[in-house]
Amino acid sequence: MKTIGIIGGMSWESTATYYKQLNQGIKQAKGGLHSAKVILNSVDFALVEALQRSGDWQSNSKILCDAAQSIEKAGADFVLIATNTMHKVASQVEQSISIPLLHIADATGKRLKQQGVTKVGLLGTAFTMEEDFYKQRLTDKFGIEVIVPNGVQRKLVHDIIYNELCLGVVKKSSKEDYLTIIEDLAVAGAEGVILGCTEIGLLVQQLDTEVPLFDTVQIHVESAVSEALK
Ligand code: GLU
Repeated sequence: MKTIGIIGGMSWESTATYYKQLNQGIKQAKGGLHSAKVILNSVDFALVEALQRSGDWQSNSKILCDAAQSIEKAGADFVLIATNTMHKVASQVEQSISIPLLHIADATGKRLKQQGVTKVGLLGTAFTMEEDFYKQRLTDKFGIEVIVPNGVQRKLVHDIIYNELCLGVVKKSSKEDYLTIIEDLAVAGAEGVILGCTEIGLLVQQLDTEVPLFDTVQIHVESAVSEALK
């Protein structure tokens, strides 16, 4: 079994979910007392978030590259960045190491394609919803059209992520807001909605809506488990 590297802590609330689901996936596949072989480098999110806000992606890239290199040195066979947003610096991270990076948008794009989805809604941070690094990858590599909520809704989605979910706060009112936005995306033609932020699964699950949801943590974990077992 291969050793999975995780660059985590962004936020630790969702990294905890990764850790749990990776172990559940390996246990399910191999049975008994089997568990995932994991090397985790968990960064201080307060620093990363401040650098995001000030637009200093070069410093953020350095933090993630250093983490990736330490994970490689510690013996991981491949690495995950356990956040959608920080895939903005994925290509720098990839270039700084010689083990493969399992890109979260590629895992998601593959899953969407398997399910025949051609037009999808995307929820995530403002960086993920508004910039090209994520949406364009889904379009260019997988031919998927990506739509996002309107400006007011995007701000709401973004603020709930940073002011609540990353702090472990789950509010009923925020869940209702998210479900309304998901419905609106479906009405606008989305055949499904990507939960493109690793904390959204703490707030909204498939049971809450008939709109097909694509939780990037689950999808990323499933692709990591199958890679680990190759
Ligand atoms: N975990 C989040 C994501 O998947 C947001 C936190 C971050 O900025 O990394 O995008």
